[in-house]
Amino acid sequence: VAVNAGKLTALASRMFGRGGGTALPGLVAERVVPSITHDLAKQLPRGTTVVSGTNGKTTTSRLLADMLARAGFSPVRNQSGSNLMRGIATSLVAHAGLRGDLTAAGDAVGLFEVDEAALPSVLRSLHPSTVLLLNLFRDQLDRYGEVATIARLWSGGLTELSEDASIVANADDPLVAQTAIAANRPTVFFGIASAAMSSARLDHAADIKSCPQCGGIIGYQAVFLGHLGHYACSRCGFRRPIPRVEASDVRLRGVAGSSFNLILDGQSAPVALPLPGMYNVYNATAAAAAAARHGLTLSTMASSLSQATAAFGRMERVAIDGRDVYIALAKNPAGFNEIMRTAEEDGAGLHLLVLLNDNTADGLDVSWIWDADVEMLAGAIDSAVFSGIRAADMALRFKYAGALAGEDVVWAIEESSDKAFSRALEWTPVGHRLFIIPTYTALLDIRDVLTRRGHVRPYWEE
Ligand SMILES: [Zn+2]
Repeated sequence: VAVNAGKLTALASRMFGRGGGTALPGLVAERVVPSITHDLAKQLPRGTTVVSGTNGKTTTSRLLADMLARAGFSPVRNQSGSNLMRGIATSLVAHAGLRGDLTAAGDAVGLFEVDEAALPSVLRSLHPSTVLLLNLFRDQLDRYGEVATIARLWSGGLTELSEDASIVANADDPLVAQTAIAANRPTVFFGIASAAMSSARLDHAADIKSCPQCGGIIGYQAVFLGHLGHYACSRCGFRRPIPRVEASDVRLRGVAGSSFNLILDGQSAPVALPLPGMYNVYNATAAAAAAARHGLTLSTMASSLSQATAAFGRMERVAIDGRDVYIALAKNPAGFNEIMRTAEEDGAGLHLLVLLNDNTADGLDVSWIWDADVEMLAGAIDSAVFSGIRAADMALRFKYAGALAGEDVVWAIEESSDKAFSRALEWTPVGHRLFIIPTYTALLDIRDVLTRRGHVRPYWEE
């Protein structure tokens, strides 16, 4: 009854054009049977994997889902934006049969992205077979607190994991690695072995400078992104665990993506990943490590990754009136830095539309923009339009970074996202690239603008 009530709700919400119905069907089903999510998830023949971390949840889930589908599994995923219990309940309801069973669905495997603060409660109610821990960066300080706070929450949640559950964790993030080791469950580590650009210097945005085990100074042999790299503590001997899955010889190729060798148990396969930036190499390696848990072969992983496409608003490319428009969500310093780095690598003459909101889903505190290394864009910008509720704050940040200096730079603050988009497009010459960098709710706004103008389909049709 609960499943069918949910299914009817989904049908009705589509018929009446109330969006994708990504949460309501789950809510209705939960009202009928409060334990519906757990009841359905425990029937999944191939278990459940949950994906958590500050950055990369959506892309990693998507990459993993593609790999699993290629290997003959049927991934059951929660949709973008509704990544909590109701979204999970909604997708389980959609996949269940009319009699409320999922066992008939053969190789169905649950694959859910989970907000980092919600992970403990999700672990308690879902009892996943695999937990994939991506990274911990400063994000929404007002809501989450510092990264160590989230790590403590995770440690508490991981003690609830069943004995036969496994962890897949980022070896290059000291706090994530330490949390995984302390949980004392079978763990597959992933990481980056080597890259053409690695530096031994921590970014301004680096969120971890001390050893999570003893508080001593942590030294880095290589840094690939923020505080992710090869590290060791000189005081207690805590060091990066040896990964089972690695990316070696990483070469970044701007918006075109990257190439690297994917290594699994010492075997290696070349990957040409069509998604840009070091952060996506981490996402790809994370997905491969989780896929290894399901027994996928290296060649399946590599060929799946080489055909990856961008998720909703994650450096997604849309051709509009002769321009290549890239939409890249940024909601914290580390994420913003990586997007700026990818855009800037692309050469001078950047055209930007930056949208900063401070709604609940974005984080009410926008002080993080001062921790982003906007300085790297000095001298690189041709045009910039700022929009969103806190557009002026972002413009001020760019001005202090020296990114708006120079006689040839045109820039403006435009309140309405619709007008902001028109102006940014107008300032981008035909044949050039426009990078749209929104926070979470601004991404939904700009997506609406593009949908209304017929440039993209509504996200729930994807
Ligand atoms: Zn230490």
